Amino acid sequence: MAIKKVWIEKGCVSSGLCEKTCPEVFELPFVGEVAQVNEDADFNANRKCIIEAAESCPVDVIKYSEEKQKGPDMLSY
Ligand code: SF4
Repeated sequence: MAIKKVWIEKGCVSSGLCEKTCPEVFELPFVGEVAQVNEDADFNANRKCIIEAAESCPVDVIKYSEEKQKGPDMLSY
């Protein structure tokens, strides 16, 4: 499945873990501020580390949505 959206909900404790795990997608531009998502990042190229970052976030605020890839259309008779 393709990741189409990544976001961070309220409650980030600025651990910096996501930035270390997936630096192209997550960044903490200012010390002590909440993490941000780099919207220009290629989410699919970074799919593995986005999922890893979401799973390892200590407060579980990293969210992403996936889009099912369309298969061939079913023919009905
Ligand atoms: S891993 Fe979670 S708590 Fe830590 S900086 Fe990233 S979003 Fe914030």
